[in-house]
Amino acid sequence: MALITKKIKGTEDVLPKESYKWQFVEKIMREEARSYGFREIRTPVFEHTELFARGVGQTTDVVQKEMYTFDTKGGESVTLRPEGTSGAARAVLEHALENEGLPIKASYFVSCYRYEKPQAGRLREFHQFGIEEYGTQDPVADAELISLASSVINRLQLDSVHLQINSIGCPTCRAEYHKALKSYFEGYKDKLCDTCLSRLDKNPMRILDCKSPICSEIAKDAPKITDYLCDECRNHFDAVQKYLDAAGIEYTVDPTIVRGLDYYTKTVFEFVTDCIGAQGTVCGGGRYDGLIEELGGKHLPSLGFAMGMERLLMVMDKQGIEIPDNDECMLYIATMGDAAKVKAFELIKQVRSCGMIAETDVIGRGLRAQMKYADKIDARYSIVLGDNEIEQNTAKVKNMETGETAEVTLDGHFMERFVEIQLSDEQKNK
Ligand code: ATP
Ligand code: MG
Repeated sequence: MALITKKIKGTEDVLPKESYKWQFVEKIMREEARSYGFREIRTPVFEHTELFARGVGQTTDVVQKEMYTFDTKGGESVTLRPEGTSGAARAVLEHALENEGLPIKASYFVSCYRYEKPQAGRLREFHQFGIEEYGTQDPVADAELISLASSVINRLQLDSVHLQINSIGCPTCRAEYHKALKSYFEGYKDKLCDTCLSRLDKNPMRILDCKSPICSEIAKDAPKITDYLCDECRNHFDAVQKYLDAAGIEYTVDPTIVRGLDYYTKTVFEFVTDCIGAQGTVCGGGRYDGLIEELGGKHLPSLGFAMGMERLLMVMDKQGIEIPDNDECMLYIATMGDAAKVKAFELIKQVRSCGMIAETDVIGRGLRAQMKYADKIDARYSIVLGDNEIEQNTAKVKNMETGETAEVTLDGHFMERFVEIQLSDEQKNK
């Protein structure tokens, strides 16, 4: 039989046997975000195209080449979100959240869509965990954000993931810097890639972010933004470092980090590893004080970061980090005959309502096949119910690992007794 279709290039399925890994990582992210006082925001997967054109920025690769944009039947241009920041900012503005007190703090999990060349760590549908904060200029907020990202990475026990920070200044100091960059890169006009040539006039800083080996080699000796910062930006950057030092968070200052999106100002940072090949940035973020104004709001300084879920999971996999799978089946009830099936249905509901995972046969298999299934799902205990058990109102609970059995009654004391058996086994194991 031929499948009518397969998944779209650059997309991935997370299968039931793999999803515990995602849930483990997401749980840690939720807990960390919560402990820093962030609450989740959920925004639509598609938005009006102009939101991203303005929010992400016209000169970015994302807007120029990577967006999934289409016209609706009503003739509107909509785009699948390529990132989470713009949608969150739109929602903040639309609901006037600034009136409810500052800072506004939001976290998110989103799927993102970018028409890129699929390769390891680079997908067309990928997922991000992100943080957004609005209404603070204070460098302590930048440091706090970095600290949150670093806590997540530490709790995931990732090794060799390095924090790199930079300041890309404000529109004032950047104007001077752009001039210097432009005149530097003009000397290499014959070597730069076509994309970078087109960036030369509009946004020369973007050249520093080019992935082509020739352009990045040329970029190495380009003027450094850190030499052009105005006093305010310099002080801000120094203060961010002071807080990071105080918290014992290790970093290096890397003046070539500019980030791919247009809206950044002052602090930018990345967590990078070289253990998963070329796509080594697992987290990127920074400050974007001009974004909210760009989207039609009043001045509201903002900052945030996004972590690439797939890349983080790749690093964990590569580094052999074990992820606990807690979805262990506590009890499998095998049945023979109709009366047993009904009884099992009743008992298993009690086990589940106590928060344990329990299963029974739902496809009418024979006893041997049922027990094989119980083995396959690694059930900790099993019970076989047949007419005898129903008649005597008792059954044997088998510890699938040790083979030991203990008796339970199939009445109101069933759960009580089953828990006793588990506790006594736990005692023996100590
Ligand atoms: P890159 O330089 O790798 O293209 P970016 O600057 O475009 O990254 P951001 O827009 O800052 O990335 O997104 C934040 C994070 O999302 C990245 O650090 C990365 O971990 C992840 N990410 C970005 N694009 C993709 C993609 N196409 N596939 C998988 N993960 C991605
Ligand atoms: Mg990119």
